[in-house]
Amino acid sequence: MVLGGTVDVPDFPKPGIVFKDLMPLFADGAAFRRVVDGIVEHYGPGGFDVVAGVEARGFVVAAAVAYATGAGVVPVRKAGKLPRKALAATYELEYGEATLEVHEDAFIAGQRVLVVDDVLATGGTAGAALDLVERAGGTVIGFTVLMELGFLKGRERLSPRTVHALLTV
Ligand code: 5GP
Repeated sequence: MVLGGTVDVPDFPKPGIVFKDLMPLFADGAAFRRVVDGIVEHYGPGGFDVVAGVEARGFVVAAAVAYATGAGVVPVRKAGKLPRKALAATYELEYGEATLEVHEDAFIAGQRVLVVDDVLATGGTAGAALDLVERAGGTVIGFTVLMELGFLKGRERLSPRTVHALLTV
């Protein structure tokens, strides 16, 4: 186990993809606390009402940030997982195509929403998640990730929306 760091996994989930595994960082209590504190410090504890986490690793961070700030949590889920009526957005991935969903009544109109995921790669996932939050009535105040893969230019794809990354590689 590599505590506090990330591990490059070649050929996952497909040949030619080098997957950055952040699980060791989540498993290290001190490192995980630094991640959560870093996000809270960036946006300010009163800067948002709800944290929307992108399935599945975004859930972990979203719940911790929400608890630390007294905000609520809303899941942005993969297709077919939500029990009630949901809005859907389909997008291209670095490795394939995917659909995300959010409950259509997930937000009170105008609620300030911080969207959280673990990694920003091409930006397809984030673009879909941000669109969904807005379509469901939330006001996106920011998008934050633990790690940005700068060479995939997700930040440019999301422009003029801003991205906060704790680490860019
Ligand atoms: P994108 O849509 O920006 O190309 O990919 C980002 C999404 O795929 C995020 O939800 C993220 O969890 C996942 N992802 C893509 N590449 C990686 C990676 O190398 N490591 C991790 N942990 N997640 C990745």
